[in-house]
Amino acid sequence: MQFIDLQAQQNTIRSKLDKSIKGVLDHGKYIMGPEVEELEKQLAHFCGAKHAITCSSGTDALLMILMAKGIGPGDAVFVPSFTFAATAEVVAFLGAHPVFVDVLPDTFNMDPESLKAGILRAREEGLKLKAIIAVDLFGQPADYDQINVIAEENGLWVLADAAQSFGATYKGRKVGTLGLATATSFFPAKPLGCYGDGGCIFTDDDNLAEVIRSIRVHGKGSDKYDNVRIGVNGRLDTLQAAILLEKLKIFPKELEARQRSADLYTNALKDYVQTPMLLEGVTSAWAQYTLVLKEETDRQALQDALKDQGIPTVVYYVKPLDQQTAYKGCLKAGNLSVSDTLSKRVLSLPMHGYLKEEDQQRVIEVFIQHMEKN
Ligand SMILES: *Cc1c(COP(=O)(O)O)cnc(C)c1O
Repeated sequence: MQFIDLQAQQNTIRSKLDKSIKGVLDHGKYIMGPEVEELEKQLAHFCGAKHAITCSSGTDALLMILMAKGIGPGDAVFVPSFTFAATAEVVAFLGAHPVFVDVLPDTFNMDPESLKAGILRAREEGLKLKAIIAVDLFGQPADYDQINVIAEENGLWVLADAAQSFGATYKGRKVGTLGLATATSFFPAKPLGCYGDGGCIFTDDDNLAEVIRSIRVHGKGSDKYDNVRIGVNGRLDTLQAAILLEKLKIFPKELEARQRSADLYTNALKDYVQTPMLLEGVTSAWAQYTLVLKEETDRQALQDALKDQGIPTVVYYVKPLDQQTAYKGCLKAGNLSVSDTLSKRVLSLPMHGYLKEEDQQRVIEVFIQHMEKN
């Protein structure tokens, strides 16, 4: 059993992938070829955002948005501590200050009260309050209504780190439209993944989109040899765009399959552990199906028991960012105890769009057997 079975997905569309890859090899426009433009059109349409700007990775998507907004030394950007490193890394990379905020124990997303505490701390330190990066952890959108209110009250703008949540919805709106700008990732294991690195930026802001398009190609002006600002090389390869165009066609079906798999796990396991909680009116892209074990459960022993039966599990995340070496000196909203507790008790089970019910039943059986014995 695979934790994320990319081969099963490939088997269903292999001949179409071969054809679209061949198409790129035939026309030879490897950089910014026609597939890139077509993909951007389709991605924007998929989520209802005005602009979709594909790019080289989810990390670069975050970075280019912050660059376009001029984030730099002296600026405070609020980020959850319980997330993947890239969320805070891009802030520090630009010389700004990531301010770590705690998350909620049930949704694993940014805690509005902790965000308010972080804002006070950053103000005391004399930092310029600039932005909030809300992360849609494991595929569920953060609580944007609450976060946007706090942002407005404090003159901040919101960047949605949707690396794990493309395809999810929040109160009738799709991910891609929930902040001033949204960053997603097409890393192979994400809900919509390519066969290498890739990402996309979404925004409804025409001016911001124009600046990001310039930053994506070394800060180009109207002519590519007249650079008007500092940029990066942040483009998505045409080959990856061609692959994503095929994968996007089957993506809605895969999202439904992930939801069915999540429901099956939850119904079977809810009496044994804390199963994932979705907010009212919110759907998840189920990048991960993540449980919170009881304090007394020996997580390693459970993982070993599952592994013995050929069932892979992963801990996302073993260490909150504020406790990691690179970020130890950074400002924190408080003691971030929820992030700390979650890092000790979460466990993610196999989850993808091709999970067989019989495989899930085996996961459930071994899981429950172990819980009842221990
Ligand atoms: C994967 C991920 C990223 C980075 O995406 P890459 O495409 O790997 O650069 C950023 N934020 C979160 C929350 C992620 O899970």
